[in-house]
Amino acid sequence: MKYKRARGTQDILPPDIDRWRAVERVFEDTFDSFGYRGIRTPIFEPTDLFVRAVGEASDIVTKEMYTFEDRGGRSLTLRPENTAAVIRAYLESGMHRVGGIVRLCYTGPMFRYDRPQTGRYRQFHQVGAEAIGSVNPAIDVEMIHVVISAMRSLGFEDLDLRLNTVGTESSRKPYRKVLLLAIDELGDEIDEEARERYKKNPLRIFDSKDYGEKLKDKLPVISDCLTDEDAEHFTVVKELLDATGVAFVEDPHLVRGLDYYTRTVFEIYHGDRGAQSALCGGGRYDNLVAECGGPDTPAIGFSVGLERLIEALPETSAAVRTRPGLEFIVACTGQRAAARALSCARVLRRVGNTESDLSGRSRKKQVQAAEKSGARACVIVEESDEKAVTWRNLRTHEETQVADADLLDFVRSTHNSPEGTN
Ligand code: AMP
Repeated sequence: MKYKRARGTQDILPPDIDRWRAVERVFEDTFDSFGYRGIRTPIFEPTDLFVRAVGEASDIVTKEMYTFEDRGGRSLTLRPENTAAVIRAYLESGMHRVGGIVRLCYTGPMFRYDRPQTGRYRQFHQVGAEAIGSVNPAIDVEMIHVVISAMRSLGFEDLDLRLNTVGTESSRKPYRKVLLLAIDELGDEIDEEARERYKKNPLRIFDSKDYGEKLKDKLPVISDCLTDEDAEHFTVVKELLDATGVAFVEDPHLVRGLDYYTRTVFEIYHGDRGAQSALCGGGRYDNLVAECGGPDTPAIGFSVGLERLIEALPETSAAVRTRPGLEFIVACTGQRAAARALSCARVLRRVGNTESDLSGRSRKKQVQAAEKSGARACVIVEESDEKAVTWRNLRTHEETQVADADLLDFVRSTHNSPEGTN
């Protein structure tokens, strides 16, 4: 083997792709049902956008970005997440002038230079949504409904929703002070470099892979410093979740790895709550639109890691169909029958998915392969008979001769027959 895929990346192959497509389909349907419209942004953006939005002190910006200079000397970065780019596009396209709430959703690859392991990759995929333009706590709850609804449709049952607030700047300012003092008191339990970084944003200590779990119980939590407005927003979110029957657990240490979050933050876990088991993360980011140069506009979003979601997908998920509905196989013997075989396949595709066997192997081998394909019928086009084809019912193995000109009518009649298996 001359080439191998880059470390931390994956090929998604059949039949695994069926699970991917099923999951993407369910999310698309769920987004449609809540009124979210799709958006696709470039894979790379000017580096500044992420430094500013995700935060200079975040792990993502300090250690994980794929940053490069293009031939024109511009610094570009493969997107480590999609929210910053969505907000950039929202402003650049003038969507902020529309008014009301703008609801957007996306799916695609993200890139982080992280240590690869199960559930953590350098190229991974996220599906997510953003609702831009409202400070109403009800939209926080709608966001949670969207993701939970999609996950339930996929067959997830025991979901574990973790919820916290990281407050607005007015709550965080006093909190940062007490947190910094507490971090100072930890002495040499943290190294010099990390200490410097936490001076910029001490909240980062909670999602640090090195220190978060180990030290969190020695540190104060934000709930003691919340302003009345921030506390009220959080209370209403919790009441609305209760009122709409969504179970959650309050987690005072949940802060999320990106600096732009304000107020509500949440994560969704499934099964064991290990470090790599968060399937979804989200929260409010009321300052990001303004920081990206737009008007003061509150917003909230979430993203789901597709690799992790698909690895955790219940075996019984009804959303997953194997081989998406292959109905017919056209077998073809001999070069001279090729044109007729291609025409027959075109006719059959008007009724259902059709695959042509153009392998040139024997009739017997082609029929054997068709028997295993899951299709319901095989049409055999032979050089020796220029006017008619053989219709083979793959369930009963019965064969019927059908004139080429009658094929469409014949297929349609089998399609509508009571057993559908003529
Ligand atoms: P974040 O953008 O960090 O809030 O992450 C949101 C979700 O993306 C997480 O809950 C994971 O499911 C997924 N995710 C984040 N980083 C990775 C990664 N390196 N590999 C695979 N999935 C990831």
